[in-house]
Amino acid sequence: AAAAPLLSVRGLEAWYGESHVLHGIDFDVAPGEVVTLLGRNGAGKTTTLKSIIGIMAKRKGSVKLAGTETIALPSRTIARLGIGYVPEERGIYASLSVHENLLLPPVVKPGGLSLEQIFTLFPNLKERINSQGTKLSGGEQQMLAIGRILRTGANLLLFDEPTEGLAPVIIDQIGRTIAKLKQDGFTIILVEQNFRFAATVADRHYVVEQGKVVDMIPNAELDQNIDKLHGYLGV
Ligand code: ATP
Repeated sequence: AAAAPLLSVRGLEAWYGESHVLHGIDFDVAPGEVVTLLGRNGAGKTTTLKSIIGIMAKRKGSVKLAGTETIALPSRTIARLGIGYVPEERGIYASLSVHENLLLPPVVKPGGLSLEQIFTLFPNLKERINSQGTKLSGGEQQMLAIGRILRTGANLLLFDEPTEGLAPVIIDQIGRTIAKLKQDGFTIILVEQNFRFAATVADRHYVVEQGKVVDMIPNAELDQNIDKLHGYLGV
């Protein structure tokens, strides 16, 4: 039997002011799974992540984390349940050093990685420990954004387009990191435009279209669904 989902999203709706952008998102993520949210620009992938962590002011439906209903909880309470979010823009503080950036997000749960463990995962960060955020390459910023979330003890990680704008060699490193995190028991939701990358790391893919999940494709069945997927993504 399949494990009970770690995250279960049902009928999730969200609004920016009067603008209704999520119209009933449904999906599940099992413990230890890596799933992607795929879809065209503006489909609602980022808004789905923002709704899960509770920063969309107006949202309704159901978001259960390990059985706990979070839809009405404030974002700080949701974070303490063990959700870590790495936004598309990464959120690195330019005037703080790598070390200071690493220490910034509050620890929410026991079991987070130590700085040494983070440096084992991302050796570049150790070399840059005293560098300012502004001095980092895009790849280093992404590693820092991921690394500091691992310190917090979050076990459900939401990554919004972690490969965007990065060189292939860095994308490979991010891919190996995601594989390692999965091995270590983390559960990961990945918003991706880079479909080839998504296929190397994910167990399943959810397709988002106009604020709804319209399909689910297991990674093992990707090849036979490739035309359908290209249709969804408009490529
Ligand atoms: P992208 O890859 O472009 O980020 P996405 O699938 O993540 O695409 P969202 O960013 O979730 O899409 O956007 C969903 C819809 O909400 C779009 O129509 C977008 O224009 C709108 N939207 C996003 N952010 C805001 C905002 N801050 N205020 C108003 N509307 C917004």
